[in-house]
Amino acid sequence: MSQSAPEYALAAHPRTVGNTSSSTRPVHVTSTLVIGGRDVVIAAGPCSVEGYDMLLASARHVQSAGGTLLRGGAFKPRTSPYAFQGLGEEGLLLLAAVREQTGMPIVTEVMDTRQVQRVAQIADVIQVGARNMQNFPLLAELGRAGKPVLLKRGASARISELLLAAEYVMANGNERVILCERGIRTFETITRNTLDISAIPVLKAETHLPVIVDPSHAGGRADLVLPLALAAIAAGADGLIVEVHPDPAVARSDADQQLTFAQFTDLMHSISLIATASNRTVRTPAPAPLVPNIAASASSRDIADPALTAISHDAHTHAEETLADESLAVVAA
Ligand code: PEP
Ligand code: MN
Repeated sequence: MSQSAPEYALAAHPRTVGNTSSSTRPVHVTSTLVIGGRDVVIAAGPCSVEGYDMLLASARHVQSAGGTLLRGGAFKPRTSPYAFQGLGEEGLLLLAAVREQTGMPIVTEVMDTRQVQRVAQIADVIQVGARNMQNFPLLAELGRAGKPVLLKRGASARISELLLAAEYVMANGNERVILCERGIRTFETITRNTLDISAIPVLKAETHLPVIVDPSHAGGRADLVLPLALAAIAAGADGLIVEVHPDPAVARSDADQQLTFAQFTDLMHSISLIATASNRTVRTPAPAPLVPNIAASASSRDIADPALTAISHDAHTHAEETLADESLAVVAA
């Protein structure tokens, strides 16, 4: 193997030439949310779902600042078994309720094969955390789950191992994989992890998969989120996943790294400048009118009428199913 050859090239779905300057094949999350296209996509929200009010407030702020995907953990992988483990099923229901209120699609973590079916019913994107990147039965199950997978790089995983993990999902029938660089463990202790900026252009060049970056878990400190986020976008990332909390000091997990609402607004402004300089765009805030003719008459940000909400959600789900079917058809072909 020559020195510059990748250690591993995706076997099931080798690089293809797309219709943009990069070979990235965009992942369709909903009928209006695409990751890996010209838009830089920002997912943001609390580390953990702690309750309805904090989740709704976070979602509304993220949305008003230009974020298009709501993050929030219901099942939390915690280093200590005595730490807050997440609200579990209740957290999933809160995520679904806030989606109903805001129209924001949600990304949430699955930790165990036994949770996959339930999480897939609720989530628009299913997150595999760094600690589970090589949980092979879980990856295989997600291949059959019919929802896009956000696959985080393990703290000690090589790029080649991340790609093989992605391969597990794809080889089991699911092409909609988004890679996430979230920092790796090095000898450095000042930061929680070390953001591997090099991984971004390498992954973009060697795969057709969208690549996003998590500057929150990389640095582990709120003051580092902005510079790491800017570096990530400048290096070619297709998006970010950022932790935001109404009151980070009292957060039940990852208090040190969560942004305040004001910090998140600043981040979005700065990102849009870097995105523009990189010939990318940041999506505008307005949620998609899921049923254009009806929803257009309601406030774009808060569909208060329960009937409209129900209709919108059905349309949303239908759009997802259609996309899932299309995706499976591609795999079957
Ligand atoms: C998270 O996103 O909340 C998380 C636990 O991240 P990671 O798996 O990257 O540590
Ligand atoms: Mn966290």
